[in-house]
Amino acid sequence: MSSDLRELYQSVILDHHKKPRNFGELADANRGAEGYNPLCGDRVHVWLKLVNELVQDVRFTGSGCAISTASASMMTEALKGKTRAEAEALFRRFHDLLTGAESGEAPGLGKLEAFAGVREFPIRVKCATLPWHTFRAALQGETTPVSTELGSHHG
Ligand code: ZN
Repeated sequence: MSSDLRELYQSVILDHHKKPRNFGELADANRGAEGYNPLCGDRVHVWLKLVNELVQDVRFTGSGCAISTASASMMTEALKGKTRAEAEALFRRFHDLLTGAESGEAPGLGKLEAFAGVREFPIRVKCATLPWHTFRAALQGETTPVSTELGSHHG
């Protein structure tokens, strides 16, 4: 591992990688989506129980690198109990944190701000955002697999 990457793996990210929260299938999920990041090989399946526009529960399965696993783990913690609108807003703030050219400040993200360093590594940005794109697909009820390489031909 390069020293650059080591710096990137902050303790909170490492902790969630070693002990992913909300990992496993959600028996009474009523939404779900699969995501795949071919650049890294990350696969994630997000399970969601949406009741009256409220994210009652969210879990994930799959296998990927430390960044994608930690991102999925921290995402499930952040999203549980949120309304659909709040979840969408959080998605946008997280996405801005990782892709924005600004200072990287993203009020209200809490622990998720640990991923601010990831933006220095464009390939890793896709690892971190994959679970979120997959969650969003589940929220929108899309059944086609999510790929980070779809619709991203602006580079
Ligand atoms: Zn990855």
